[in-house]
Amino acid sequence: MLNFLISPFWLLSLLPLCSAVPQRGRQRCTAVDTCWPSIDIWNEFNSSIAGRLIATRPSAAVCHAEDYDEVACSTAKQNWTVSDWRTEQPGAYTGMLWEYGPVAQCFINTTREAACQQGYVPRYSVNASSIDDIQQAIHFADEHDLLLAIKNTGHDHLGRSSGGDGLSIWTHHLKGMEWHDDFMPTNGPGNAQGYPAVTLQAGEQWIDVYGAAAKQQRIVVGGHARTVGAAGGWLTGGGHSAWSSKYGLGIDNVLEIEVVSAQGKHLILNEHTNPDYFWAIRGGGGCAWGVVTSVTYKTFPEPNHIQAVFVQVNTTGEAAFRRGLAGTLKGVDLMTAAGYTGYAYIQRPADATPEVPAGFGGFFNQADGNNETFATGTSAFMALNEIEGVSAFALPLQYPSWSVYTDLWLQDPNVAQNVIDASRLLTPAVVHDGAKLGALVDMMVDYGAGFNFIGRVKNDTRADTAVHPAWAESLGILSFGANWEDEATLEEKRQKKHMVVEQSKQLDEIFGSSGGTYINEANPFEPEWQRVFWGTRYEKLLKIKRKVDPTNLFVCNRCVGTDVVFEP
Ligand SMILES: Cc1cc2nc3c(=O)[nH]c(=O)nc-3n(C[C@H](O)[C@H](O)[C@H](O)COP(=O)(O)OP(=O)(O)OC[C@H]3O[C@@H](n4cnc5c(N)ncnc54)[C@H](O)[C@@H]3O)c2cc1C
Repeated sequence: MLNFLISPFWLLSLLPLCSAVPQRGRQRCTAVDTCWPSIDIWNEFNSSIAGRLIATRPSAAVCHAEDYDEVACSTAKQNWTVSDWRTEQPGAYTGMLWEYGPVAQCFINTTREAACQQGYVPRYSVNASSIDDIQQAIHFADEHDLLLAIKNTGHDHLGRSSGGDGLSIWTHHLKGMEWHDDFMPTNGPGNAQGYPAVTLQAGEQWIDVYGAAAKQQRIVVGGHARTVGAAGGWLTGGGHSAWSSKYGLGIDNVLEIEVVSAQGKHLILNEHTNPDYFWAIRGGGGCAWGVVTSVTYKTFPEPNHIQAVFVQVNTTGEAAFRRGLAGTLKGVDLMTAAGYTGYAYIQRPADATPEVPAGFGGFFNQADGNNETFATGTSAFMALNEIEGVSAFALPLQYPSWSVYTDLWLQDPNVAQNVIDASRLLTPAVVHDGAKLGALVDMMVDYGAGFNFIGRVKNDTRADTAVHPAWAESLGILSFGANWEDEATLEEKRQKKHMVVEQSKQLDEIFGSSGGTYINEANPFEPEWQRVFWGTRYEKLLKIKRKVDPTNLFVCNRCVGTDVVFEP
């Protein structure tokens, strides 16, 4: 039996679309099924990969029953919300619901005798140290028809690196960076000039890449995050960055990707070797496309400085909140036009406190931003001071380099929490349509909101990648959502998940059928996920998926061609 919930309705709805349905249905065996390999077979497999198989357990298991270990338990308690520690654990996830699953529990704050169930944590993980380890894991999973997951950091918001009771390929220890002055993609034109670039192994994390890049006096377009992986889900989902207004998404800067395919082949993907596969993996999402072993990104010169800007819009009373927020979203339009990217929260009046008043708190940045960009960008926010009950201020700060900025400001929020979002890419067409803007502000009054990213993304190469076409117009990712405590009742958790599905439906009404979102920061239970995640590009993605993975070995929640779809 799978821990994942597979939606038969969704499978049926797919059938008319596909002339090339996988040749054989997969059982996706897990440890609770009779088709799961015997312990002897697992031992044999472990010997073939030099003992690199780990019996994976949830991150709090060391505090319970037969797994109890006093020292390890104390370490787990001290580091429970520390992202560096969490990403070091093969069985730990950032969103706790992707560790526990819908009903299981293995909590850190319960007694030693309390239950510790496996939940969504894979039963075994291959601690990969080489391409060969990955190839062996793929052959083994294929031969025994196992539920197969790929995990890097476990940061995924949609549970796509979980794999309850199955087998996982854990890429965290595949480290290494190679810096190039003149990188030429394989089979590229011999007479052309190469690119300054860096090749990152699959387990590299952004904070380490930024540190190493500073020594080269270069920057790499990467996440505004310490421990997010540079070559896993961030890459396959698109990857937004503080550099996106200048250089595009992460995928716009990829020169070459090495993968192990569903057939266990080690392939080099770029626009010269395999243009379709290369197109699909850049935005096609999750682990649907094989195991990435390395990626080569362009690098760029360091700027002279980084300018950061705090913007705070405070409102008193619901009427002022409504007027202030409508103006704030127009302010976002102007701020992004002036070249800023950023992140923000929107506090609704019902949750206002003296520390976090109702309104908008934004944190923006721009390489080489100056007094002029600051004045132009913040002018619409400042104009909000004319509205009764609204006060706004903006504060510029300057940092001498990206690495000084990242050391100070890169944090990993919401670690070891239960948080889910429903989101859409906010476009100028919505901001400047009175009725749609009003409906969005209504949602903000009801739920509060946030921006996981604000910025106009440089879009020269948008059609060359698989992300939703709405990225071309986007001003940012507007998110609503819900959170709950571990101890919440099953009914409360169920209600919160359904509330977020309801938010997705409301967003669909406002944004219409051409609205889209960023798949890495999307609702894990998005109803019309194929359309909302990829829009018109889904059909082409599905065709390529059928070609490169005809037996559907690589699946994950709401990934292209999947038969694994979580229900709320
Ligand atoms: C604290 C935090 C900060 C964030 N900041 C940003 C940000 O600034 N910009 C942004 O764009 N996003 C950001 N995100 C979202 C982030 O892009 C996604 O959570 C992403 O899925 C993380 O990828 P990962 O490889 O680190 O995580 P994982 O959970 O390990 O993997 C995510 C997905 O990628 C697959 N995968 C992992 N490694 C491989 C591999 N080697 N080959 C094939 N598939 C693989 C997994 O199977 C899974 O489907 C942030 C998330 C968090 C939690």
